[in-house]
Amino acid sequence: MSEPAIISDVSPRDGLQSVAEFVPTGTKVALVRALYDAGVRRMEVGSFVSPRAVPQMADTAEVLAEALRLPGLEATVLVPNRRGFELALAAAGNRADQMRLGLFMSATESHNQANVNRSREASFEALAGIVRDAASAGVPVRFNLSCTFHCPFEGVVPEPEALDWVERVVALDPSMEIALADTTGNAAPDQVSRVFARALASWGERFAFHGHDTYGMGVANVAAAWNAGCRVFDAAAGGIGGCPFAPGASGNVATEDVAWLFTRMGIDTGLDWTALLAAADLAAAVPGALPGGRLRGVPAARRPM
Ligand code: ZN
Repeated sequence: MSEPAIISDVSPRDGLQSVAEFVPTGTKVALVRALYDAGVRRMEVGSFVSPRAVPQMADTAEVLAEALRLPGLEATVLVPNRRGFELALAAAGNRADQMRLGLFMSATESHNQANVNRSREASFEALAGIVRDAASAGVPVRFNLSCTFHCPFEGVVPEPEALDWVERVVALDPSMEIALADTTGNAAPDQVSRVFARALASWGERFAFHGHDTYGMGVANVAAAWNAGCRVFDAAAGGIGGCPFAPGASGNVATEDVAWLFTRMGIDTGLDWTALLAAADLAAAVPGALPGGRLRGVPAARRPM
């Protein structure tokens, strides 16, 4: 067998963030546990954003604390700024070494402005400081570069522009994981393949792919990133996500679809198929969640493997 594929399930954060009705903390924790029981050992469990801006993530400290009790699980939380960084450290307490901080900015100016209301330069400078302080605190970081391939305002991102930002992010820390994110789901597999091949050839194995399935290309883009040498993938159980206020916006590529892809390609994911389907069903059944993905609906794929 070849190298394994590492799947980080982001359904507790990316999948639930836009659900209008508050999802009870117990439901979020049950989802985290179901994913853990399926063998998932990396998860994005919440976000230390302002609860006024994103009320759904107001209980991230509690969900994180529960996640950090699960042996061998690395729990990622998004932190938009220094305040979020401090809240995350406080919430993790003496288990901070099991936590990963997820930083984010956009590769395009207009999406960064729309998302965090500041320029790319201002975001980069602020995040550079957090990268340094996280290293001193001994907490690993995942730096997410949103809209690396396509921007809702600027369209397809020119590859040299995307790679320029990747290069700047790489320079912040020699070991930091960097996710190239297809935020809109409108990347094309040949583009994903070229950008990953360039990034890996220039800066080595440190990249992850975060993809959405809006245009039905999520799995194809994962395969393209894998073939270019990427080994870490974000996906959401049940394909949940999207935004009720942005019609047509869909969730992350479904974890079960990605797991099926890798299994068919003879690549180990460490996941238990039956338990993963149970977790995906649980995610899809969260009231207000918008499920996606294909494999949950394929009767023949529901037989135990
Ligand atoms: Zn996303």
